[in-house]
Amino acid sequence: MRLLIVFLLSIVTLLGWDGYNGKSLIITLPSPSGTVLMNDLNISVLVHPTDRTKGIAILPVDYYAIPGDINLTWISPGKETPLSLNIQKASYPSEILNVDSSKVTPPPEMMDRIDRERTEAYNIYNHFTPIRYWNKPFIRPIESIITSEYGSARIYNGTLKSYHGGVDFRALTPTPILASNDGIIVLAQERYYSGGTIIIDHGEGLYTCYFHLSHFDVNVGDFVNQGQPIALSGASGRITGPHLHFGMMIHGIQADPLDLMEQISRLFEAI
Ligand SMILES: [Zn+2]
Repeated sequence: MRLLIVFLLSIVTLLGWDGYNGKSLIITLPSPSGTVLMNDLNISVLVHPTDRTKGIAILPVDYYAIPGDINLTWISPGKETPLSLNIQKASYPSEILNVDSSKVTPPPEMMDRIDRERTEAYNIYNHFTPIRYWNKPFIRPIESIITSEYGSARIYNGTLKSYHGGVDFRALTPTPILASNDGIIVLAQERYYSGGTIIIDHGEGLYTCYFHLSHFDVNVGDFVNQGQPIALSGASGRITGPHLHFGMMIHGIQADPLDLMEQISRLFEAI
């Protein structure tokens, strides 16, 4: 009887969190098993890095997520637990940028290349590698001033409206760029919008991205250690001047990299 009451209580217990559009959220669960169903995504529950008896789930919250409640279900062996996430609207600044017109209205012969690069990136970011390479907090890839934060609403050349999907660091060409954490190089390529681009797979759905580079020190398939120089900064792709664009992806969604890095750091402090 007592067991039954505990079981029923565990079913009706509703765990809830607050989140903001663009700020992916790490939640801690009482055990490291199962998945969290969020919209049509099945998010693996991971082992908490400092307490193996607990689970974590990194919930991707898109920049364009609509404010309101999202119902989640934690599906663990023999049990389904309802969870809820209340999305609120984050406040982001606006920016007006002037770039080469070919980077706002690409020439028709570039469209195939742009589509191909978009598909390649989509496939990389949506691949879940079931290995954890990030066994410590992430570090910044360069110690420098931030010139543009994640989430700024952007207007390019007075027409194209977009938002900033990463954080920009001031970087005179050529400044060494460091791997933010251990991982595998999954892309090192010159691309139309992001210029010289490196993507690192850190495992468990987490990727970091480094754009506008002028030189690569690594190849696809290389294992890199945190702090290892991977490239030199540059001014390639859609830019207003030399800088490093640093991004972080989780389960295919662009996260605010500095915010997610801070949440991950807190997991390692929670001993
Ligand atoms: Zn940027």
